[in-house]
Amino acid sequence: MKAEKYRFDGSQPCVLRRLPCDSREDDVEKADILEKTEQNLQRMAELQDAFYADGREGLILVLQALDAAGKDSTVKHVMGGLNPQGVQVTSFKQPNAEELSHDFLWRVNKALPPRGSIAIFNRSYYEDVLVVQVHDLQKGYRMAPRVKEDDPKEFFRKRYRQIRHYEEYLYENSYRVVKIFLHVSKEEQKQRFLERIDKPEKNWKFSDADIKERALFEQYLTTYDEVITATASEHSPWYALPADQKWYTRYLVSEIMVDALEHCTHEYPKLEKESRDRLLECKKALESE
Ligand code: ATP
Ligand code: MG
Repeated sequence: MKAEKYRFDGSQPCVLRRLPCDSREDDVEKADILEKTEQNLQRMAELQDAFYADGREGLILVLQALDAAGKDSTVKHVMGGLNPQGVQVTSFKQPNAEELSHDFLWRVNKALPPRGSIAIFNRSYYEDVLVVQVHDLQKGYRMAPRVKEDDPKEFFRKRYRQIRHYEEYLYENSYRVVKIFLHVSKEEQKQRFLERIDKPEKNWKFSDADIKERALFEQYLTTYDEVITATASEHSPWYALPADQKWYTRYLVSEIMVDALEHCTHEYPKLEKESRDRLLECKKALESE
């Protein structure tokens, strides 16, 4: 699996600046990759069908990235290979007042899929250790003095632990969490922003806040390194995927989805003899109409 190279399971630290943002190192041909992506999407659909019928495990795909790295188009593309009946997409925006008056995992719990279904998180609880940390937002939160007296390093160290434990809790409750970081280069982000400004049909995707966040690009990379390193585990791995070429990113994501679904339970339920006999009786009744 090509995506294997980009997988982090906690055994080594993540250093994004040493990882590629495109496919050059991977010795691939676009035409071949496009064909393989189609095959993966078909395989995904087959696996999802059985996974849904099986219904013993739930799958959560977390998508994180800086702006314009391609989260939305990845969601669109992955969804193309799935039956909408068994998938739900949740976009995590800035928390509203009600959400802010709860713990940060409250809104996540509400978005968990039933077993047999897939949840795609477009941004996630990871924002609570990323944007919140980069902008020191926790300083403005209404929380008890014993919580707020921690210095930021300590505050976020605790949150990393809470996230690790939360993902372990999910795993032990028959869920799998797979986390993907779309690693776009600063240059490619600039090109995509320019396109969003130049093309009227893309204007709505751009806001001047994006430029303010871009100024913090390096700080985000450093924070992502820390977050990925602290929260990657064997059961809830991170993948830091090159994101400058959408055709390649989509391929890697499709590989990861196939792999994740293959690891999830996906057996069609087998009928007991009694139920099977009843089915055969129904068949006879239908055929003799
Ligand atoms: P696009 O790439 O299309 O702009 P987006 O995911 O950036 O999509 P927006 O509506 O532009 O969507 O932004 C959502 C914003 O909400 C992001 O800036 C994100 O950092 C912020 N956000 C999400 N979760 C939190 C959180 N827990 N605390 C503070 N901000 C958050
Ligand atoms: Mg945005």
